Order: sequence, then structure tokens, then C-alpha cells
Amino acid sequence: MTLAPRIDYRPVSACEDCMILLANGEVPEDRPDLSDIISLRWQGYGLVPGCPPDCCQRTEDGDSPEPWFSWSACEICGSGLAGNSQHVTPFETTEKETTILSSVTGI
Ligand SMILES: [Zn+2]
Ligand SMILES: [Zn+2]
Repeated sequence: MTLAPRIDYRPVSACEDCMILLANGEVPEDRPDLSDIISLRWQGYGLVPGCPPDCCQRTEDGDSPEPWFSWSACEICGSGLAGNSQHVTPFETTEKETTILSSVTGI
């Protein structure tokens, strides 16, 4: 019998740098190691920018809400700088690599 992977869809807060990297694959110029940091911290997880429909207040079109300003550390990269935050939804995978999906469809 194989155990089903523990599924945890609790969204975590991500800083702007992480959101851009996860959404567009763009590494910020002043943080060239960001991609490595995320891969190490979230090894074995998939990361989906955005969050489940019942999480944040949506716009009328169903789009994700605007980023909000946060003083809390980014839960994706651990950066303690205050700035704009958005939700990213992690889920456990059997992959060793960090997987990045581009949408929350299906969650
Ligand atoms: Zn959310
Ligand atoms: Zn971050």
C-alpha cells in the first residue's frame, strides 16, 4: 500500500521578487541566487502563484486580488524586507525538484 502524499494547500505569502520569478521565470537582477534559494527551501514541493478561489477576496472577474503591503517576511524565500505580498500555494510532490506551475486550476 502506498501512502497518499500529505496535501497542504495552505497559501503562503510571497514577496514581489518571488512572485515575478514564479510567475514569469524572471530572476531579479539584485538577487541572482533567488531561484536557488527557493529550490532549496521548497525541495519536494510544487509552487503555484496564486491561491484557491475561496482564499482571498476576488475581483468581479474572478482575478486574484491586488498585491497587498506586508511587513512580514516572505514565506517563500525568507526575505525579511517589507513590501508587496501575494499568495503562493505550495503542494507536496514526489519530485525532488521544486516544481512551479503557472496556475491554480485544478486545486
Ligand atoms: Zn489568497
Ligand atoms: Zn520572497
